Amino acid sequence: MPAPTAPSASSGPLTCRITSAAPADTLLVFDKDGVLLDLNSTWLPVVVAIGSYLEERCGGATSRDDLLAAVGVEMTPGTDQGIITENSIFAAGTFAHMREVWSTLEPKLIPVFADFDSYRADIDAIVTTTARGQTIPKGEVKSGLTRLKSMGFKLAVATNDNTASAMVNLEDLGIDALFDIVICADSGFGRKPEGGGLLEACRATGITPDRAIMVGDTATDFLAAQDAGFKGFITIADNAPARPDFIPHADAVLAGVDELADLLTS
Ligand SMILES: [Mg+2]
Repeated sequence: MPAPTAPSASSGPLTCRITSAAPADTLLVFDKDGVLLDLNSTWLPVVVAIGSYLEERCGGATSRDDLLAAVGVEMTPGTDQGIITENSIFAAGTFAHMREVWSTLEPKLIPVFADFDSYRADIDAIVTTTARGQTIPKGEVKSGLTRLKSMGFKLAVATNDNTASAMVNLEDLGIDALFDIVICADSGFGRKPEGGGLLEACRATGITPDRAIMVGDTATDFLAAQDAGFKGFITIADNAPARPDFIPHADAVLAGVDELADLLTS
């Protein structure tokens, strides 16, 4: 995956007059982790299980905690507790990006990743068994999305997660049926910060990018919206209404998706 790059001056800032379009003509594309679900509560048990698996596969040459630290997960020594750092490789990147980082840190993992079908089956099994039924929503997500759907907005998901685990999360939250389309890293439209997945959401819903708004929590989400020529970008942040410094621009900063319906009707 290409590294996120700074916004180019020629593409200009996204500008979003929030209330200027009819709901039926507006597409809202949501990132998943940190936007629809609580990143740390949902993913930490999965991350810990993946870290333990990798430590075992490299024969203990690199510890679980060191492997996790390399992708932005800071574990409390001697415990299964930790924090997934905002905007980190784990929070914003893909499993492919994490494999690159782990291969550099611990070369004994290179042959493990090389047997890709076997590795992916192991990871999918860890993710689906550890995550299923354990997805923690980011606030009142279901009621917020249900309101937006009933108002007539087109709704989509664009995530750098893979389809198998993404659908576990959406089904856990009971929100999978609310989306017109769900686009994942393995759906064939590239990965954020590329804009291909966002443009596919436009194509599938018949909405042009100049009527589409991305809702995300990382710089990767912002850059994807900019790459796709989206009308606007709204960020979800724990310290809302303050904008996190790793987000170059946001038309609005909200604490959760449940505030979005109020914003779009104000
Ligand atoms: Mg996210």
